[in-house]
Amino acid sequence: MYDVLVIGAGPTGLALAVDLARRGVRALVVERAEGLFPGSRGKGVQPRTREVLDDLGVGEAIAAAGGPYPVAMVWQDGVRQGEHQMFDDSEEPGDSPYREPWMVPQWRTQQILAARLAELGGEVAFGRELVGITQDGEGVTADFA
Ligand SMILES: Cc1cc2nc3c(=O)[nH]c(=O)nc-3n(C[C@H](O)[C@H](O)[C@H](O)COP(=O)(O)OP(=O)(O)OC[C@H]3O[C@@H](n4cnc5c(N)ncnc54)[C@H](O)[C@@H]3O)c2cc1C
Repeated sequence: MYDVLVIGAGPTGLALAVDLARRGVRALVVERAEGLFPGSRGKGVQPRTREVLDDLGVGEAIAAAGGPYPVAMVWQDGVRQGEHQMFDDSEEPGDSPYREPWMVPQWRTQQILAARLAELGGEVAFGRELVGITQDGEGVTADFA
């Protein structure tokens, strides 16, 4: 019996599970894949995301795992035409401690969140796909493939 069932161990599910675990809410994350997604979809995180990750207790690990975005190169017919900054860093950051995105692959962010979840006593059940739910006055029953 869990208070919350989180479907999917992507960055959203893992971040939610960390937030619940640190508040003492008993939650189970269920992921249909056999492990965390190993590929790199997201290449980096935005300043506001870094603030959230700080709050979840993984800011230092994210900082250590990544770095600033590199300068982008422009090529035509195999000849380098020049370069440009991918992000405009001239804007004032306001009250955010960060002013630019941080390049860290999504798979690494997920590993870091999963490690934080384990540290807080949370769990991920891999290899289980939610296929249905039923609800009554007592609670919700989940069915898995
Ligand atoms: C090419 C590309 C580049 C991107 N670049 C960036 C970037 O630079 N920065 C950035 O922040 N974002 C980027 N994104 C977006 C980012 O990848 C997504 O926003 C992020 O993956 C969403 O996370 P999520 O946890 O909501 O969903 P997902 O990552 O899709 O995770 C959902 C999980 O739920 C599981 N699941 C689904 N259904 C079930 C079920 N019934 N039972 C059990 N498990 C289930 C899936 O297996 C999956 O692991 C990019 C995306 C793409 C495609």
